[in-house]
Amino acid sequence: MIPVTKCFLPPIEEYTEWVQKAYDKQWLTNRGDLVKLLEEQLKGYLGVDWMTITNNGTVPLQIALKLLGKGGEIITTPFSYVATTASIVWENCTPVFVDIHPEYLTIDETKIEAAITDKTTCILATHVFGNPCAVEAIEVIAKKHNLYVIYDAAHSFGVKYNGQSIFNFGDVSTCSFHATKLFHTGEGGAMFANDPELRHQLFYSHNFGHKGALDFYGLGINGKISELHAAMGLAVFPFMDQIIDARKKAVESYDRLLDFSTLQKMKIREHTDWNYSYYPVVFESEEQVLEAQKRLNENDIFPRRYFCPSLNTITYIVSKEMPVSENISNRILCLPLYVGIENQNIEEICRLINQIV
Ligand SMILES: *Cc1c(COP(=O)(O)O)cnc(C)c1O
Repeated sequence: MIPVTKCFLPPIEEYTEWVQKAYDKQWLTNRGDLVKLLEEQLKGYLGVDWMTITNNGTVPLQIALKLLGKGGEIITTPFSYVATTASIVWENCTPVFVDIHPEYLTIDETKIEAAITDKTTCILATHVFGNPCAVEAIEVIAKKHNLYVIYDAAHSFGVKYNGQSIFNFGDVSTCSFHATKLFHTGEGGAMFANDPELRHQLFYSHNFGHKGALDFYGLGINGKISELHAAMGLAVFPFMDQIIDARKKAVESYDRLLDFSTLQKMKIREHTDWNYSYYPVVFESEEQVLEAQKRLNENDIFPRRYFCPSLNTITYIVSKEMPVSENISNRILCLPLYVGIENQNIEEICRLINQIV
C-alpha cells in the first residue's frame, strides 16, 4: 500500500536513549530538560530568536486568537486545514473569508482590504503546503488598518523567504509537529513571535498563566508538550537534512515524470527556499480527480484530496462563495510523498495519472 504520507520513525534505540534521560531525571513534563534542549536545537536550525514548543499546532492558533482576536472578525483563507477555521470559531471570533490566488494557493492579498470592517482585528492566513503568503503586502495592509497578522505556518518547517525563516513574519506564526508533518514530535507544535511583550503573553498563556506557583500574569490554558514527545523530536531532529533531501528527490521525480500539459502545479512564491512538504497537483476537472483517485486506489495507491472541501462551505460556517478556492478544492489531489517512497512507485503513479490527463 502506498499512502499519501508515512510518518518518519527514527531508530528506536535513539528514541529510547532520550526517553531514558526523562526516566533518569524522573521528569515527564512542565518544560523539562528535553523540551528546552529541543527548543535550542530548533532555534539554531530554523534561524529564529524565540520560540515556544507546544502540545500541538492548534492550541498556539487558539492562544494567538485569544490574545489578538478579541472576539472580532478575522480575515482568513478558505483553503487550509479545518484547524485554521475551527480555531477562529472556537475562540468566539468570526471568520471572514477572502478568496485565494489561483496559482500560489495562498490568500489573495489584493482582496483583503475589501473585507476589512470596523470589527476586524486580525488577518489569519496559511502558508499553504509551505508556500509563503505575500507577506510584505499583507504587512502593509495590516499596518494601514491597525490589524494583527497571524500565520498558520503548520506546513512551513524549514521554509526560508528572502533568506530568513518564514516564522519571522507576522505578529505570531504557528507550526505543527504532528506525526505526519515534516518535522514531528508525535503530537506537537510551536509558536513564534518578535515582540517581547507578545512573547511573554504567548508563553504564560501556554502554561495556565502562571507567574510562579501562587500568582498569575493572566488567563492561560495547557499548551505544554511532554518530555516523551520532546524525546521523539530530539530523535527525529538529526535526520532533518536527510528527510528534506529525500523528499526533494521525490519531488524532482514527479516534476520530471508527470505530464503537465493540462495538470497544474502549485507555483512557489519567488525568493522562497521551499521544504518539499507536499506534492499537490490540480486537475482539469473534479471528474478527472475522481477518475485519477479511483485508478490509483485500484493499484493500492492512496493520494488525498487535500484541501477539500473549501472551508467556507463547511457545516458551521456562514460565508459568501469563494469561487477560486471552491474550484481548486474540487480539483486538487496531494500525491504520495514521504521518506522511503521508491522511485518505481513514483513512476507508476505518474504513468497512471498521465493516462488520464
Ligand atoms: C496540521 C495542521 C494544523 C494543526 O496542527 P495539529 O498539530 O494537528 O494540531 C493546523 N493548520 C494546518 C494548515 C495544518 O496542516
